[in-house]
Amino acid sequence: MVTTTRIFNFSAGPATLPLEVLEQVQRDLVALPGVGMSILEISHRSKPFEDVLEGCEADLRTLGAIPDGYRVLFLQGGASLQFSMIPMNILPPGGSADYIVTGAWSQKAVKEAKRVASVRIAATTEADNFTHVPTQSELQLDPAAAYAHYTTNNTIFGTEFHYVPDVGAVPLVADASSDIFSRPIDVGKFALIYAGAQKNLAPAGVTLVIVRDDMLRRTPSTLPTMLQYGVHVENASMYNTPPVFAIYVMRLVLAWLMKRGGLEAIERKNARKADKLYAEIDRTEFYRGHARTDSRSRMNVTFRLPTEELEKKFAKDATAEGLDGLKGHRSVGGMRASIYNAFPEEGVDALVHFMHEFERRNG
Ligand code: PMP
Repeated sequence: MVTTTRIFNFSAGPATLPLEVLEQVQRDLVALPGVGMSILEISHRSKPFEDVLEGCEADLRTLGAIPDGYRVLFLQGGASLQFSMIPMNILPPGGSADYIVTGAWSQKAVKEAKRVASVRIAATTEADNFTHVPTQSELQLDPAAAYAHYTTNNTIFGTEFHYVPDVGAVPLVADASSDIFSRPIDVGKFALIYAGAQKNLAPAGVTLVIVRDDMLRRTPSTLPTMLQYGVHVENASMYNTPPVFAIYVMRLVLAWLMKRGGLEAIERKNARKADKLYAEIDRTEFYRGHARTDSRSRMNVTFRLPTEELEKKFAKDATAEGLDGLKGHRSVGGMRASIYNAFPEEGVDALVHFMHEFERRNG
C-alpha cells in the first residue's frame, strides 16, 4: 500500500514512473507471486527472471515494431558507455564517423568517438547556443562515413528532432535516451538505437541497445569481451549478471504502456501535455522558451524568466507547492520541465496554473 503523498516530479532523469507500476513493485517486492522470493534476491539464471527478460524483449519488439534482423540488448554503463562502445565496435581504426552536434550529450559522444578514430561534424548548432536542431538541408554528410550519429532529443537544451535524418546508405545511429518510446519509431531506418532507460522506460541501471545484425560483424576481435556487442547478443544479455531489478521494472512499464494503447496513444498524450506548456510560455512575454519553435522538445520544456532572481524564486515557490525538479541545467539556466511518458497530465495542468499565478504575483 502506498502511504506517502506523491508530488509532481519534473526531474530530467531518473524520472517519474507510473504510479501503478510502483504500486505493483511494492505489492510484489517481498515475494513474487508463485515464486516466494523477492525480485531483489532471485538468480538471474532462474526461470522467473528468464521469463521477465524474454517478456521484456517481446514487449519491446511489439511496441516498437522492431523488425527481424535487429537484436535487443539490456546493458549497463548507461548511455555514456555507448558513447565508447559504438565507435569501438563499428568505427574501424582508419575510418571516419559523422556526428550531428545538438547539445552537451552529442558533444560527449564526439569526445569518446575521437579516442577511437576520426570524427567529422556533419552539423552543429553550438553557435546558436543549441536553441535548435539542424534541418535536413543543413547536414553536410560524408557518404563514406562508417556511420552517422545524432541525439534524437536534447535533454538539457529542450530541443528534439521532428524528423529522422536521411543519411543515405550510411548506417544511422541514435542516442534516444530522452525520447525513446515517446512516439512511434521506424526502427528500420536505424543501424543502432540506444537509450539509458531512466527517463521513459525504467529506473536507472539498464541501458537499452537495439542493433542491426550487420553492425555485429565489424567488431575487432581484440576488443575486451564486455565491450563487444556480439558477446552480449550470443549470451542474450546474460554474459554477466544483468541489472535484474531495473529490467523487471521495465517489464512493468512496458505493460503499462501497452495497456494505454502503445506508442500512438502515448504520442497523443505527450503532444497534448507539451502543447499546454508551450501555450502558457507563448501567452506572455514574462516567459521565454529556450528552444526555437520548430525544434521544441515534447519531453523537456526549457524556459527563462525575466531575471535570475525570479527564476530562483520560481523554483523555490514551485517546490513549496509540490512541483519539484524544475530548476534547469546549469549550462542553460532558467527552468526545465521534464514531462516524460509517465508524467501525469494533471501535473502539467498544475504547472500551467502555477505559472499563471506566479506571473500575476511577480510580473
Ligand atoms: N544521452 C542523453 C540524451 C541523456 O539525456 C543522458 C542522461 N541524461 C545521457 C546520454 C547519459 O546517460 P547515462 O547517465 O545513462 O550515461
